[in-house]
Amino acid sequence: MGGILLDVDLRHLYLLDILVLTRSEVHVNLWCMKLQSIRGMNDIAPPESHIWGKIEDAARAVCRAAGYGEIRTPILEPTELFKRGVGEATDIVEKEMYTFDDRNGDSLTLRPEGTAGVVRAVNQHGWAIQQSILKLFYLGPMYRHERPQKGRYRQFYQFGIELLGVQDPLADAEVISVGWDLLKKIGIHDVELRISTLGTDSCRKPYFKKLTALLKENMDLVPEDFKSRIEKNPQRIFDHKDEKAQALAKKLPLLLDELDEESSQHFKRVQEHLHSMEIPFVVDANIVRGLDYYCHTAFEFTTNSLGKTQNALGGGGRYDGLVEMLGGRPTPGVGFAMGLDRLALVLQEASSFGGVRPDLVIVSSGKESVSVSLKVARELRGRGISVEVDLEGRSMKAQLKRANKLNAQYVLLIGEDECASGMAILKNMETRSEDSIPLEKLTAQLLEKFVESFHQE
Ligand code: AMP
Repeated sequence: MGGILLDVDLRHLYLLDILVLTRSEVHVNLWCMKLQSIRGMNDIAPPESHIWGKIEDAARAVCRAAGYGEIRTPILEPTELFKRGVGEATDIVEKEMYTFDDRNGDSLTLRPEGTAGVVRAVNQHGWAIQQSILKLFYLGPMYRHERPQKGRYRQFYQFGIELLGVQDPLADAEVISVGWDLLKKIGIHDVELRISTLGTDSCRKPYFKKLTALLKENMDLVPEDFKSRIEKNPQRIFDHKDEKAQALAKKLPLLLDELDEESSQHFKRVQEHLHSMEIPFVVDANIVRGLDYYCHTAFEFTTNSLGKTQNALGGGGRYDGLVEMLGGRPTPGVGFAMGLDRLALVLQEASSFGGVRPDLVIVSSGKESVSVSLKVARELRGRGISVEVDLEGRSMKAQLKRANKLNAQYVLLIGEDECASGMAILKNMETRSEDSIPLEKLTAQLLEKFVESFHQE
């Protein structure tokens, strides 16, 4: 039977295939191989996906309230966009992008982040010229070829907002507040907001020069993988993970201590606005950014809930040079991106979302009862109430058991006896109380009940 199967990983075959394989009918069963998703790319299904849905709903609600409209950009963009928009000297562009040539030989890349695509769209359609302020948000998958581990994946999801056209520190504070409000709305309380400033060119350039010189003097203490970055962005030594680098960073001067007047005023105003909005924060000089077009505010939301390594839930800052860098008119911008996978992990671990429970399970028996239950279920679902009905003709006992398992808030009993008496029984599964409802008034009375109980929540 030749060696056709030598490259096949046997763990991916069903037991049946393996049994059959031993009988040498190999070629037919290659088609039965169990396929796997790509490493670092996950399926998100119920009950987990309910948590994701809630986070996305909350993100949309927070954005709607603050006046941000949704933008959906393509997942594939020209590679050049990220080289310019994220920066050639970054880990993302150097090592992590999914880049390939398409059938025309054009180099394309699966987006590793959202801002570059948004700014490309803004420039392409001239939106920043048509409107003085643009407020946009996005939600969607991003791709980075990183080492997969808990909280770090190769396909992951980001929610992000971009506020374009406003130079005032009020914009920085508003953007931060949207992120903060989302975290609170979804119930993540173990979160710290860390802020810093990257200043402007006029203080950053001389500071970088000084830092580069100091690093060169201490070359033996500089980690090997950082040596090539000393010229491009010496400040990144502050967020280098290596212990030696961290020890060295502690001895270096901080940009925070060398700000010019404009930078220090901007930073002060951001802090004042955060105080006015009662958003707590700490100033952390270790928050830096990799590229020239970042300036002034940089911030991060971190948590202790996910351990030490993947503790960043989101981060952002001001990027006044980016629109111009991507071919648009000079336009200030500020924004952030949050990792939905990490938000979902925190909520899952804290069990803050106890899964999704139906509002009502209808337990029916007999032809008449089934047709009433279908009609009522459709009417209530049309009003946004979640209703489960029996689809398998199970006994009332089995249906009740399922209602318990689903953790339903209410159960409506419409058995043959109830049909005969013209009265259904509504059980509140929390208080164990029961009400009788005339069959002809079922929908109206149930609606009343649900409006009442939604009000109490
Ligand atoms: P960044 O675009 O690198 O500033 O990341 C913003 C946020 O996206 C981070 O704080 C994380 O929450 C999330 N994130 C970034 N990379 C990944 C990844 N590989 N897997 C999961 N989440 C990520």
